[in-house]
This record gives sequence, C-alpha cells and structure tokens, in this order.
Amino acid sequence: MTRAVVIGAGLGGLATAIHLRLAGCDVRVLEQRDEPGGKVRQLREGGFGFDLGPTILTMPFVFEELFRAAGRSFAESVALEPLSPYYRARFADGTVFELSDSMRRVLAQIRRMSPDDEPRYAAAAEPVAVMASGSRDQIVNNLWAHAKRAANEINAGNFDYKGHDPAYEFGGSGGEIQNSNSVAYTLSRAMGLDPDKIVRDAGVERRFSGWGRDVLDPNYRRYVAPPQFPAGNRP
Ligand SMILES: Cc1cc2nc3c(=O)[nH]c(=O)nc-3n(C[C@H](O)[C@H](O)[C@H](O)COP(=O)(O)OP(=O)(O)OC[C@H]3O[C@@H](n4cnc5c(N)ncnc54)[C@H](O)[C@@H]3O)c2cc1C
Repeated sequence: MTRAVVIGAGLGGLATAIHLRLAGCDVRVLEQRDEPGGKVRQLREGGFGFDLGPTILTMPFVFEELFRAAGRSFAESVALEPLSPYYRARFADGTVFELSDSMRRVLAQIRRMSPDDEPRYAAAAEPVAVMASGSRDQIVNNLWAHAKRAANEINAGNFDYKGHDPAYEFGGSGGEIQNSNSVAYTLSRAMGLDPDKIVRDAGVERRFSGWGRDVLDPNYRRYVAPPQFPAGNRP
C-alpha cells in the first residue's frame, strides 16, 4: 500500500488526507498544534467568541463534493444558516456599516459614508461578481485562473504579502484584518488593479511592511473591510 504523509491538519491537509485515503493510501497526518482545523479556530473570552479564521462559506459545493466522495452527506453533517447581514461594523462616531448580499443596500451605505467610493466599489465588485457566477465548473475555472495569476505575482516577488507579517499567522493585534487585506491585495492584483497606487493616491505613507496595516491604522480615516476590494476603499 502506498504510504503518504500529510503535514498540517487544516482544511487543505484534511481534504488531501481524505482523498488519499479514498485512493487507497496509508495516510498519516502530522499536526503541530494540539487540535486539527488550522485557521478554522475560535477564541473564547469573557463569554464572547472570536473567529480567528473563516466565517463565510463561499463555495459549499467544495465541501459537499468532499463529503460525497467519502460517502457522507454534508447537509446531514453540517447545518448551514444564511446570515443577514454578514457582519455589522460599528465605528467610534456611531456610524454603522452592514455587509450583506444586497448590493443595493451596501452601495447606499457606501454612498452615505464616502460618496466617491460608490462607483469605484461597484466597478471593483463587477469582476468579482463575474468570477463568482455561472455553473460550478465555470466558478472553479475562473477562481483557479485568478488564483494562478495571484500566485505568479507572489512568486515573482512583486509585492509584500502576508508572509512578512507574523500577525497573519498568530491572529493577534489586527492580524486577522491584515490577512483579509492581504487577500484583498492579492485578488486585486489578480484582477489587474493596482492597490499600491490606490494607497499612494490616498496620500498614505507606508508605515509597516504589510500592505494591509497601512490602510488599517486606526488613525486613518474610516475603513470598510473586504470583500470590498481595495479599489473601492478609502483608508
Ligand atoms: C481571518 C481569516 C478569515 C478567513 N475568512 C475566510 C472565509 O470567510 N471564507 C473562506 O472560505 N476562507 C476564509 N479564510 C481562509 C481559510 O481560512 C483558509 O484558506 C483555509 O483555512 C486554509 O486551510 P489550509 O489547510 O490551507 O491552511 P491552514 O488552515 O493554515 O492549516 C495549516 C496547518 O498546518 C499546520 N502546520 C504548518 N506547518 C506545520 C509543520 N511543519 N508541522 C506540522 N503542522 C504544521 C498548522 O498548524 C495548521 O494547522 C480566512 C482566513 C483567515 C485567517
């Protein structure tokens, strides 16, 4: 029997291990932490729960396929609930921003908070909407093509990425937000946008090696977190 070792019991490692096992391999999964899940973690403090990783399941079919391949039913194993809004951000001045699946409501809020950003947000959201629509195969192919372009950018060393930021992995002091911005940064580059120029045009100086930190410093103007990719954001 072919023996396989998977290093890391995050979603990727676990899915790989399951597929290898289904292919008849003798699989061993090595995990440095004391529990599986990788970035899928939650911190509980003072009666509150803080997600340190993913909160939104954007492509349930990936999980459905994995469960089906393993002879299990995703629907029977996991209860999914649509959330509205996805999240609510409260700013110190009392402004409330709600991200939901209603483009009309999101745009209306952006219009109130930062009118210049409304058309830019709409323009940036357009390619994302194209990427995320169509048949399952189209979505996968689109995402794969974009991810490959992003990976090439990273490999070519064309820009700072989350690897520079220890907070990314440890999820401390803004690391979670930093990561989201790294993702936004990556995707925006893959979409042919120029996030560096957007930061420069906004007159923000680089203060940290990680791009996201620059625009998320609380001293800067209000900010609406991704998935409004950087072209739509004003720091
Ligand atoms: C704040 C945040 C929000 C996110 N939000 C979303 C979301 O809403 N929707 C979504 O789809 N995705 C989201 N993501 C992305 C998603 O969490 C990741 O894509 C996914 O969890 C990555 O899985 P992975 O298995 O590739 O890596 P990881 O989850 O990082 O797993 C890697 C595992 O390998 C282990 N490991 C590493 N090196 C070693 C070693 N040498 N020896 C042993 N073990 C090792 C690590 O301890 C870890 O358990 C978010 C991520 C973050 C951080």
